[in-house]
Amino acid sequence: MEKQGNIKISSENMMPIIKKWLYSEKDIFLREIVANAVDAITKHQKLVGLGEAVAEENYRVDVRTDEKAGTLTVEDNGVGMTEEEVEKYITQIAFSGAADFVAKYEKANGDGIIGHFGLGFYSAYMVSENIEIFTKSYREDAPAVHWESDGNSTYTIGDCEKPARGTKIVMHIAPEEKEFLKEATIRTLLHKYCAFMPYPIYLNAKEGEENKPVNTTEPLYDKQPKDCTEEEYKTFYRETFSDFNEPLFWIHLNMEYPFRLKGILYFPKVRKQVELERGQVKLYCNRVYIADNIKEVIPEFLMLLNGVIDCPDIPLNVSRSFLQNDSEVQKIAKHITKKVADKLIALYKDDKEKYEACWSDIATFVKFGCIKNDDFYNKIKDVIIYKNLNGEYRPLTGYFGEAVSEADAKEGKEPQAVYYVSDESKQAQYISMFKEAGLDAIVCDTFIDPHFISYIEYKNPTQVRFLRIDADIAEALKAGGEEDKELAEIFTKAIGDKAKVKTEKLKNTSVPAVVNVSEFMRRMSEMNEFYRMGETPAEVTLVVNTACAAVEALRGAEEEAQKTAAEQIYYTALMNYRQLTPEELERFTATSVALLEKYLRK
Ligand code: ADP
Ligand code: MG
Repeated sequence: MEKQGNIKISSENMMPIIKKWLYSEKDIFLREIVANAVDAITKHQKLVGLGEAVAEENYRVDVRTDEKAGTLTVEDNGVGMTEEEVEKYITQIAFSGAADFVAKYEKANGDGIIGHFGLGFYSAYMVSENIEIFTKSYREDAPAVHWESDGNSTYTIGDCEKPARGTKIVMHIAPEEKEFLKEATIRTLLHKYCAFMPYPIYLNAKEGEENKPVNTTEPLYDKQPKDCTEEEYKTFYRETFSDFNEPLFWIHLNMEYPFRLKGILYFPKVRKQVELERGQVKLYCNRVYIADNIKEVIPEFLMLLNGVIDCPDIPLNVSRSFLQNDSEVQKIAKHITKKVADKLIALYKDDKEKYEACWSDIATFVKFGCIKNDDFYNKIKDVIIYKNLNGEYRPLTGYFGEAVSEADAKEGKEPQAVYYVSDESKQAQYISMFKEAGLDAIVCDTFIDPHFISYIEYKNPTQVRFLRIDADIAEALKAGGEEDKELAEIFTKAIGDKAKVKTEKLKNTSVPAVVNVSEFMRRMSEMNEFYRMGETPAEVTLVVNTACAAVEALRGAEEEAQKTAAEQIYYTALMNYRQLTPEELERFTATSVALLEKYLRK
């Protein structure tokens, strides 16, 4: 006989809230219903273990779509429920659970994590206009039960025919949610939320045929690292992230104490070097997918990686602000950071060749990680490597000098200068002069390097400062000697206020002049450009090389020739610094032509 009843709490309050709240993440209803099915199976298995239920060989969850009938069904062969239990857990608890939910809603309002709440059974009403439950308890004497409700204030309950143990949830999908009747949609959702659930889940399994479950009941991260092969790691990566590029390497996290945490983080190959590519770190709680890239749990910089992390202990049913302040959660973030640092250090020590081969792919991640996280920097600073002018990698800290004491600093002593190149082809002239003099520089040519070297200076203010190779004339390039007033005067006359003129006797005798822009000025103007604060012309210095014969020859020349030649030398030097503007190029052409004419007519 069917009975009727009133649902215990004023559900008129609840449904609009559920609907409004979860609107953006309606999908999760499927996770909740399937998770309940899995829970029911787990309970049954425990009872079997206790000798209280008859063993079952084929635990399974079956999901079925029926577009014609307009139903989505989830069926399990778990513990099932007696009528009493349906009353207690579905009618009363679920609805009073909703009261709790409303209370939490009030507290967590606007926090956004609600989509990750286990809203449970009733979340299915986000997409259903009516739900039926058919269930038969493992208790042999209990009759099967049928329950039905439209989620508003009434329900019916009564006996039914259901020989097999377990629960069948039939969701009558609302007309505007027809999407959830499509097999493809449901398959995608099962992949997203249920990929690692511990019992096989079948979608529209066909009778009499061999069917493949949609999930993996033994995700690789759950195994002991020592039992996993390289091939398995790669396959798991491919299947989980649909990335057919092989990962560079990975870290298998597996700990029990002081909290439980399992997972695998993969370092992907980067496609572009010009920006930060966001990765995907999927967070699971006991095999149930929660969300991607939850920044309260996983340090932001690690989100450049791909990975899965399962933390059964995270209190995910609380608000984000709580997570942010929770010391357990912070410990998890710290632990993961440490593991990543350990892995990098171990790889550097054990397989430097591989480390160097991977470096261009992981460098952005490492540098970004340092900037974002001092602890991370402190741990890995000795394995941050840079290429030198010969293309060999060396640790950056190897270039640092002795710390300059405060007293020495007062005397004007500066921290060790490390020269760098930002573009090997554009700065070719400076590079060849450097090499000639036996000097070295590091190559800083990725978009993050300018930020990173500033960070390094900030962290090591007494030990290092970075100078771009064209910022000044390194001492070792100089051959000594005094300022040459006469030549300086010739150049100043020729180029006016286009640049400041200095003379220097260099070891190199073939380059007549080089352009320098001070590191500070150049960084300022780059920063202004970055923030679009308009032009700040950086002051250019023309360093005239008195050791060059062509420069020396200017001394005796007639004034007109002096002027033309000096201007020509200036543009040649400028051209080795940056691209000329159309006006400059025009002047350069004019001076070249004038000089050629003179030379050829001689
Ligand atoms: P929770 O799973 O957090 O307890 P739910 O609203 O999802 O909350 O489910 C409420 C209760 O209903 C469950 O605790 C369980 O006792 C019962 N239940 C739900 N689905 C099933 C099922 N498929 N089989 C057996 N019991 C179920
Ligand atoms: Mg549940």
